[in-house]
Amino acid sequence: MAEHEQFTLKHGEHLLLVRSRPSPSPRLPDCPTAPLEKDATSLLTKVPTPPPPAQDQWLLRLPNELLRKNFRAAHFTIEKDTAALKTLLKDAATAAASGRGATQQDALRSLDAMLGRMRGVKRKLAAHADTEERLHAQSAARIVHLDQLYAVRGADDVRYEAWSRRRLDRLLADYLLRHGYNDTAEQLARERGIEALVDIDTFKSMSHIREALRGGSIAEALAWCTENKKELRKMESKLEFLLRFQQYIELIRTQSQPKLLEAIAHAKKHLIPYWHTYPTEVKQAGGLLAVPPGASHRAYAHLYAPARWAHLADVFTTAHYSLLGLPPAPLLHLALSSGLSALKTPACHSSAAAGGGGGKNKHPPSTIGHGVCPICSVELNDLARNVPYAHHTKSHVEHDLVLLPNNRVYGRQRLSEQAKKAGLPQALVKDIVTGEVYPGESLRRVFIT
Ligand SMILES: [Zn+2]
Repeated sequence: MAEHEQFTLKHGEHLLLVRSRPSPSPRLPDCPTAPLEKDATSLLTKVPTPPPPAQDQWLLRLPNELLRKNFRAAHFTIEKDTAALKTLLKDAATAAASGRGATQQDALRSLDAMLGRMRGVKRKLAAHADTEERLHAQSAARIVHLDQLYAVRGADDVRYEAWSRRRLDRLLADYLLRHGYNDTAEQLARERGIEALVDIDTFKSMSHIREALRGGSIAEALAWCTENKKELRKMESKLEFLLRFQQYIELIRTQSQPKLLEAIAHAKKHLIPYWHTYPTEVKQAGGLLAVPPGASHRAYAHLYAPARWAHLADVFTTAHYSLLGLPPAPLLHLALSSGLSALKTPACHSSAAAGGGGGKNKHPPSTIGHGVCPICSVELNDLARNVPYAHHTKSHVEHDLVLLPNNRVYGRQRLSEQAKKAGLPQALVKDIVTGEVYPGESLRRVFIT
């Protein structure tokens, strides 16, 4: 029993470390063969209060990203409209000063136009201010939620159970939103009072665009690309090119003379400039002109395939997630797989356990919470089959570790590769995470003892 307690504790510790550094965890005893006296939950009571896991980072990061986006939009409005206003003002002043044909009426009209424009700016800015206020309130609610975890004294504290329940609700809502079940997610959030903790609006607008793409409409996704042009370019996203390519394919699909001419003009404007970046696709685009949709030409048939729409929707979803710093997989999957990894031991999938009907089953199939290893239970055994072990028999630490002046440790080879990629002179290295640059001689070798 004592052995198993230690095992759980070590797992708990590993869970906390799992995302911060890939340190080799201590050797864990194999899964106990006899049914345990306590279930896993009660063993977890020994675990000290865990800090919020890395998967909760996005909880604060997303409102922050949205705030930045909102600020940028407000800034753009001010820049654009004040520039226009200055021009209007200058024109009016010149006309009045020169006195050429400018009556009092004209001057009043142009002043009215300016006032109208400024009212428009005020309206737009008020909307941005509302969004900002809502996002700040959301961030505050999330900070309170994460802060509650620090008030919990241990996993046996009743408050911890309430907190984990809330987290599970959050993860479920995230899962539902990512799969397009927006109404269900909204209802769940409302019932549990966690509206401020889930990003319903963001996912709703995302699924609107995704569904439009699936339905064969590009306009929504293109508008989104224009809105986020700079960021997408920084990310080197292929999305806009693929959307333009699809527009081109749709023009050719019609096979009507004016549309084909339009397709050529479209290619010149939107595809040819990417000749060096996406040579294969641009070449295919050229060839496509000679291949009507009915022809069963293997090299071109896939361009006319309806499956391209689903692919475009996937490319959009990926771009959307990375733009907002959201993990590509549902958070529920992350939590589940790290939990399964932490509890999994080699004995859980030994031939006897996996055989099922083998007769002499060391871990009889059973339901969770009945005093057996959770991974050996019928519900989780299959799910855990392909997840990696938290326990590593081999060290994954790089062999050539060096210490940077900022006390961060990396492999020397990785640092020099990174420096080469960043185009630094040979004598310099760059911190992979923080981006700080140091001379090569400031590195100190690290020996693991
Ligand atoms: Zn087991």
